[in-house]
Amino acid sequence: MTTAIYTHADCQRHEMGDWHPETPARLEAIEDQLILSRIDQFLDRREAPLADPAELERVHTAAAVDYVREHSHALSLSGQSYHSVDGDTLLNKHSWKAALRAAGAAVAATDAVLAGELDNAFCAVRPPGHHATPAKAMGFCLFNNVAVAARHATDVHGLERVAVIDFDVHHGNGTEAIFAGDERVLMCSFFQHPFFPNSGTDAPAHNMLNTPLPAYSGGDAVRPVVTDRWLPALAAFKPELLLISAGFDAHREDDMGQMGLVEADYAWITQQLVSVADRHAQGRVVSVLEGGYNLSALGRSVVAHIRALAKL
Ligand SMILES: [Zn+2]
Repeated sequence: MTTAIYTHADCQRHEMGDWHPETPARLEAIEDQLILSRIDQFLDRREAPLADPAELERVHTAAAVDYVREHSHALSLSGQSYHSVDGDTLLNKHSWKAALRAAGAAVAATDAVLAGELDNAFCAVRPPGHHATPAKAMGFCLFNNVAVAARHATDVHGLERVAVIDFDVHHGNGTEAIFAGDERVLMCSFFQHPFFPNSGTDAPAHNMLNTPLPAYSGGDAVRPVVTDRWLPALAAFKPELLLISAGFDAHREDDMGQMGLVEADYAWITQQLVSVADRHAQGRVVSVLEGGYNLSALGRSVVAHIRALAKL
């Protein structure tokens, strides 16, 4: 059993101000907990390569890709610290490279898992991706890392069925916008609703299995969504690869959302997904970090998630 972790120091150079919860310290918290938990020694450590902009353009418009590149590079020349994309999404001069590493990790992990070099992989990267739509960076996200990997799997590797599982507290509106109606992709998610970005409930496409949940939902509400909705749909779909938008902001200690998951819930959800992958997809899972803003809860939850991926 080989589980890899993909990351890169460039992912810590993108930052949006001291006040911002999507902070480089998130990746440090994950590293600290990996070492404390002593599971680090069982993981294959890999550097995230830079994505090729052509890989991004399988899901994003050329204008959306150019926007991040040009505004990030312009900051190096102007001496200004930040360019504001929207109220809570900013660029600094390192953002372009960090975003290429984040998407590059997802693509490289997909290549390695499909080549049979690895059983599965976790990408400890930022910026996150699932709010990024074809034309627009938003919600702390610049490029949609998981969507780029999914398109890479279908268009380059020729896979016919890829499942995208999103357990972030927020709805993955960007991923939905990219794949709604695409028969090669099944997206399964739950999310707090009503809540940012206030999408996912208005007649989703038939390949979007969305379950909005009210604030204060905990594991007892989430687990039946997995067993009664996700697992039957995944069994019928028979994915050849599972991609996970792994956000940990539905944790009960995470103030970004108001849901009540704990580490044991993340472990259990991951175990269910690994079982699906073992049955249908030769065990192939690529998981990519999305949200998770309480640093301690994030680190502990990622460890629980990786333990389940690696069957430790
Ligand atoms: Zn989130």
